[in-house]
Amino acid sequence: LVASLEQVEETYIMVKPDGVQRGLVGEIISRFEKKGFKLTGLKLFQCPKELAEEHYKDLKARPFFPKLINYITSGPVVCMAWEGVGVVASARKLIGSTDPLQAEPGTIRGDLAVQTGRNVVHGSDSPENGKREIALWFKEGEICQWTPALASWFR
Ligand code: ADP
Ligand code: MG
Repeated sequence: LVASLEQVEETYIMVKPDGVQRGLVGEIISRFEKKGFKLTGLKLFQCPKELAEEHYKDLKARPFFPKLINYITSGPVVCMAWEGVGVVASARKLIGSTDPLQAEPGTIRGDLAVQTGRNVVHGSDSPENGKREIALWFKEGEICQWTPALASWFR
């Protein structure tokens, strides 16, 4: 009954081009699967420049913005939508700090990366941005609403 009052959220998770090129796609997907969140969208995708700029529009004034856009468009990314209670904050914890050298061991960035400019994965920073980013990266029909046979495994 308590769980039913909690808000189901969605978050946009993306394996960045370095993660794809280093063969870390399975490893990264696996972290979210094992945690117990529900995958509702998944595709390999070459991101156009305009989409990268829209996705990161809040960082437009930052000096690293052009490099960031080059990085994100430098090769295919893996786009994912994940759903669950508390999934936005929990995914950020699983991902770790922006600077991989500051990220705790056990987190994706803490275990798998060394450079802020090559930090292998993205995760939405709020439920509002989760919705915004999923709408930005996925077309209608690419998101699956499904109920697992063992529904009690998920929250
Ligand atoms: P996060 O991805 O942890 O939410 P931000 O939203 O602050 O981090 O930044 C978005 C992305 O921009 C980072 O993941 C990283 O790839 C890149 N970035 C952030 N700060 C820098 C920086 N100082 N130099 C180079 N790239 C950066
Ligand atoms: Mg961010």
